[in-house]
Amino acid sequence: MIHGLSVDVEDYHQIVSKNYLDKDIAPSAEVERNTLYLLETFAHVGVKATFFVLANVARAYPALIRQIAAAGHEVGVHGYEHTLIYTMSRSIFKSSIARAKEEIEAITGCAVQGHRAPAFSITKDAAWAYDILKELGFVYDSSVYPIRGKRYGIPDAPRHIHRLTNGLYEVPLASIKLLGFSIPVAGGGYLRYFPFFWTVYAMKRIEHEGRPAVVFIHPYEFEETPPSAFPYGVPLPLRLKLHNTLQAFNRGKRHRGKLRSLLARYRFAPIRELVQHYAHCLTEKADFLSP
Ligand SMILES: [Zn+2]
Repeated sequence: MIHGLSVDVEDYHQIVSKNYLDKDIAPSAEVERNTLYLLETFAHVGVKATFFVLANVARAYPALIRQIAAAGHEVGVHGYEHTLIYTMSRSIFKSSIARAKEEIEAITGCAVQGHRAPAFSITKDAAWAYDILKELGFVYDSSVYPIRGKRYGIPDAPRHIHRLTNGLYEVPLASIKLLGFSIPVAGGGYLRYFPFFWTVYAMKRIEHEGRPAVVFIHPYEFEETPPSAFPYGVPLPLRLKLHNTLQAFNRGKRHRGKLRSLLARYRFAPIRELVQHYAHCLTEKADFLSP
């Protein structure tokens, strides 16, 4: 079984500064350093992935994005400024995602096929985003967690890759059903916080169902410096201090080890290859999008 490997290329400090301090800062050098680490690690084991790039990171580090493409990885779009789609109007989403796609395509010289919403923010309330993505030439989206989450998730969405009625493919993030609950697994904090044997168990369940697991990681999860060491230039509010403490857990060396174990144990490919592989056997299914 070949699984999907994806990296959401964003800068931790830029996003945190915007969300917690209402302050726009340029992406820090951490995003470049840790993306380079991932490129080296992937090259070492000969694996290719999809890098969903935030356009403002691409603007700040165009050479990095060219390097990702030159190494044979797929480059997709992760929005312009990590704004949640369900907080945007349709016209603002359309102009910002069109601009992000154009700028990233101009940097790599390759057409972008894939989209991942910031914080999986295509929910049922934002399902209108699919038609905009299709209109702008995206081939697939990979933003849906088939779970009942607080901030994201479409609980009754299929767990397998499926084709929407407008022709766009949806490649959901990895989840399993346990005791009647849909549980997110093998990505971001769901990969980092839990012991590796749990991920192995979840991957086994997914493989038994005959579907690929879509795994995602972020460059900042591999950073050795604790998040609290970053100079924001202002006193940090308590909730940001708490967020930093939570985010420091299992980062850096420990997560590097976990990624190496994951890459040694499973076969991975970029998401566009999963779409090509499964496209022939998919039926249209979009009932779950109706309210
Ligand atoms: Zn993100």
